[in-house]
Amino acid sequence: MNPSDLTTALLHSDRRFGVEHGGLHKPIHTSVQYGFDRVEDLIGVFQGSLKGAYNYARQGTPSSAALESMLTRMEGGLGSIAFSTGMAAIAAVFLTLLRSGDHLIASRHVFGNTNSVFGTLGDFGVAVDKVDATSVQGVAAALRPNTRMVFVETIANPGTQVPDLAAIGAFCRAHGLLYVVDNTVTSPALFRPASVDAGLVVNSLSKTIAGHGAALGGAVTDTGRFDWSAYPNVFAAYRKGDPAGWGLAQIRKKGLRDLGGALAPEQAHRIALGAETLTLRVARASASALALARFLEAHPAVARVAYPGLASHPQHARAAELFPGGSSWLLSFELKDPARLNDVMNRLRLAVLATGLGDTRTLVIPVAPTIFWEAGPTARAEMGIADGLVRVSLGLEEPADLIADFEQALAAAG
Ligand SMILES: *Cc1c(COP(=O)(O)O)cnc(C)c1O
Repeated sequence: MNPSDLTTALLHSDRRFGVEHGGLHKPIHTSVQYGFDRVEDLIGVFQGSLKGAYNYARQGTPSSAALESMLTRMEGGLGSIAFSTGMAAIAAVFLTLLRSGDHLIASRHVFGNTNSVFGTLGDFGVAVDKVDATSVQGVAAALRPNTRMVFVETIANPGTQVPDLAAIGAFCRAHGLLYVVDNTVTSPALFRPASVDAGLVVNSLSKTIAGHGAALGGAVTDTGRFDWSAYPNVFAAYRKGDPAGWGLAQIRKKGLRDLGGALAPEQAHRIALGAETLTLRVARASASALALARFLEAHPAVARVAYPGLASHPQHARAAELFPGGSSWLLSFELKDPARLNDVMNRLRLAVLATGLGDTRTLVIPVAPTIFWEAGPTARAEMGIADGLVRVSLGLEEPADLIADFEQALAAAG
């Protein structure tokens, strides 16, 4: 039987592996080494002729493999590779699939640390153009003969811009470009980038998928939509067998084995536990986010609220079409008077003053003096990060309690 519902499928995914003693969870396998009875098998695991065997835990464990199969199922992909963090997964994609002389087109509205990696890539000889991806024209205008990859996030943090995901997918397909979509904010509970022809999907598992702020992890999923046989940067060693597997083979060897960002088995287990309730958590947090966004939008001390579920959002219609299940747990709002920012935030009692996203608890952070501080005032202005901007990651608290907390805190805004 092949369940139609994601939660049903996830709840029964571990026991399909044939767990010892009929256990319902895949155990935490902490072995670093794996032993063999015959030397031919040890040789076979190095040469790739022995399938499904483990070798050295940096390249994967039964615990990370169980999580990878869950992620592949969630994204409707061909296969996945788990990493120690979302940044390890993102860095592995860039460092293993781009070379000096290549060109990358990226959305201007991406996670700050990803933006910082773009700077590093520049120093390694990969040219990066940061464009307004809310329209496909922004991407198309940046195309060069050496463009290899396009990178966007489904809902950008913290501004909540929604790129023209479907049109960019069609553009990438027409030009043979690898389309990489960071699905962290929406997660596969709200959106599958495979549906817009993304070739690779990255997820920070630390956020929505693990969901409890108690585990770090990241993943890359190959959707099977990209033709690797036409990609010039696949090394000869990985151009073997069905081209559908070439990309993941290279990312696993060059990204996981060589760069070393392996996911610890304990973390894989925690992430898999969190993922069991993914769809329930995302539905609750998205409904709360919409309720809080509506409250804030009507508040006299608030200049602007960015939430794709609001009719006032510039990409509201697109978000409604792409994410019918909700617009995620992420919103941001701008105080009319940035001078009152600290007073307002210090009065919050329930919402936690913390960085981080996708927790069961509501987290709030003033954006300009923290996560976008290093970027500097010019870059902040370009990205539309105002001094009074506050990012909110909705948790699972009762929405009425949260709204009451923001209401009393905003009284400090005068
Ligand atoms: C947090 C985040 C990442 C990085 O994930 P880590 O697990 O913290 O390394 C990448 N992309 C987005 C959109 C994020 O929010």
